[in-house]
Amino acid sequence: MKKVLFIIFSGLIIASTIFVYFFLIKRPDSTVRLTRVMDWIRNPGKNPEWAIKVGERCGDAPFSMPTDGYIGFLWDDSFRPGHHHSGLDIFSGTEIGITPIHATYDGFLTREIDWKSTVIIRIPSDPLQPGRQIWTYYTHMADEKGNSFVSEDFPPGTSEVFVKAGTLLGYQGNYSGTPGNPTGVHLHFSIVKDDGNGQFLNETIIENTIDPSPYFNITLNANLSPPEIPVCP
Ligand SMILES: [Zn+2]
Repeated sequence: MKKVLFIIFSGLIIASTIFVYFFLIKRPDSTVRLTRVMDWIRNPGKNPEWAIKVGERCGDAPFSMPTDGYIGFLWDDSFRPGHHHSGLDIFSGTEIGITPIHATYDGFLTREIDWKSTVIIRIPSDPLQPGRQIWTYYTHMADEKGNSFVSEDFPPGTSEVFVKAGTLLGYQGNYSGTPGNPTGVHLHFSIVKDDGNGQFLNETIIENTIDPSPYFNITLNANLSPPEIPVCP
């Protein structure tokens, strides 16, 4: 009996040490950002200066902003131990289906047949590394049941349709992938690497994605981000 208690007790000590390490020592900024996101969602009118504007470009950044809202979570933010967020989460502070999402850069749009809330755009030549092919990924464009807010111009099965930067892709929603279990209203945007054979890699794995900072001219890497709100400098 004593031995069992000892094992349970040591397990608790190890678990809380891991928790403290990841959330309080290693990644303090994710906690700060979580608090701000809650603040923003509760009362978006309170801090309008936190918001970026759709189509806005910071200086000579190659990408324009994909939507309106507060960039609440950054690339490589961590929501639980071992987790690495592979993109940006931009929270409109509005209801679902209202806040438009635009292409950040010219490219060729694909929406796979079973994609309710997602499109991906192939950019044949990375503006920052010409010759390298990259992809931009936009998701959460549906309501909690999976009713799509993707533009009717891009029905499921759309493949390789050319779109200019600024093209309307759809509207921010709260679809999480699990019907009836909504997320906060936001756009998840990421820059995804090519597999070398003309296909995109799995964007949920951070190693398959690219730090978006230089594409927008804002520090958007959670490991480097200053405590300030991420907007154009
Ligand atoms: Zn996200």
